[in-house]
Amino acid sequence: MKAVDERVDAMRSPSVPSRAAATYDVRRHNVAALLRALLKEGPAPRVDLAERLSMSSGTTTRITAELTRAGLLQELPALTSGDAGRPRVPLDLASARFHAVGIHVGLRRTTVGLVDLRGRPVGDKIRIPHGGELDPATVVGEAAERVAGLVPTTSAQIIGTGFTTVGRVDAASGRIRDHDMLGWTDVDIPALAAGRFPGLLVVDATQRALCRAEMWFGVDPGVRDFVHLYIGNVIGAGIVIDRELHHGQNEGAGHIAHLPLSRPAQLPCECGRGGCLMSVAGDRAIISRALREGVLTEERSVHDLAERARRGDSLADYLLRDRARAIGEAVAIVHDLLAPDQIIVFGTPLLVPDHITEIRREARRWMRRDFDADQLIKPSTLDDDAPVVAAATCVLERFYADPFALIG
Ligand SMILES: [Zn+2]
Repeated sequence: MKAVDERVDAMRSPSVPSRAAATYDVRRHNVAALLRALLKEGPAPRVDLAERLSMSSGTTTRITAELTRAGLLQELPALTSGDAGRPRVPLDLASARFHAVGIHVGLRRTTVGLVDLRGRPVGDKIRIPHGGELDPATVVGEAAERVAGLVPTTSAQIIGTGFTTVGRVDAASGRIRDHDMLGWTDVDIPALAAGRFPGLLVVDATQRALCRAEMWFGVDPGVRDFVHLYIGNVIGAGIVIDRELHHGQNEGAGHIAHLPLSRPAQLPCECGRGGCLMSVAGDRAIISRALREGVLTEERSVHDLAERARRGDSLADYLLRDRARAIGEAVAIVHDLLAPDQIIVFGTPLLVPDHITEIRREARRWMRRDFDADQLIKPSTLDDDAPVVAAATCVLERFYADPFALIG
């Protein structure tokens, strides 16, 4: 993102209605470019920022002064140099002064936490088990209560709250259109929240939020197109084309849970077909198979099964490898359709790190053309905190587009 000189652009741009509006847009553009440069490339002196962003030194000085006054930037100790020139003072994001709240509503629990401007969790996450209570008003109310308890634990300013869940979410209105597993239909989150969440409230689908987190804090900035595959109790894909999230008609893009594969189903699926991705490779499918084949004698989680595989249980390892191969088949279909730069795997298939190679091997077998599987198929770099970080990223993304709109 290159910055532009304020006055020149304001006069040249034919698409803006007035010079005042144009100046505001250019200022916002330059502010965003500068913050993103510091986020992506780390602290830098003003002169380096000006050069990197092709911005005049006057504009750079004005913008950095404004951001410093607002508390968004901080000066680091001056760099010592051998020559007699002025000391170079690196500027950095004051990432600890502003936090976003992340709320993720999962199948079994809601998780709440604070995240700083660099997408790093701050303090401990709070887990709120649903305990069978899935009424949306109760779930939102409990989350609001815990957030209210969390906010006083930090001296940082809370810029907003990101709220995510799986299912189809209309991000513009903040409504959950439907969530089969929670049994929610047309749930208006902003109305239920009734202003109890601090700052700007952004509601989005977990899958897209994870994609945003990958875009901002995960994948290399040079990767323009990628697909983020989420495999767990639910399965979905986030599709990013030229660094833009693809929503699809009726928010329907990326619902690949029932993609038909060449394998037998491990349990009946709601879609009514045999052998879809969910019925072969979802967490419940693999547990169902483990119970049926005697690898597990009682209902346990995929985490337990993976722990056994890591400890050398060859049957547990075989089941999880076979599941990884099923995912590889799905990856090949996704690749043949979209040919993205990367396909990022996230979720329980990563519990045994070595199994990504199984996904790559099987994907290569199903692919229509040769490709470098190591470069194409990557494990996500996001960790267990990802759902909360991803929810908060929905707010951080707005912040980096126009920080003054959020901090007042
Ligand atoms: Zn299905």
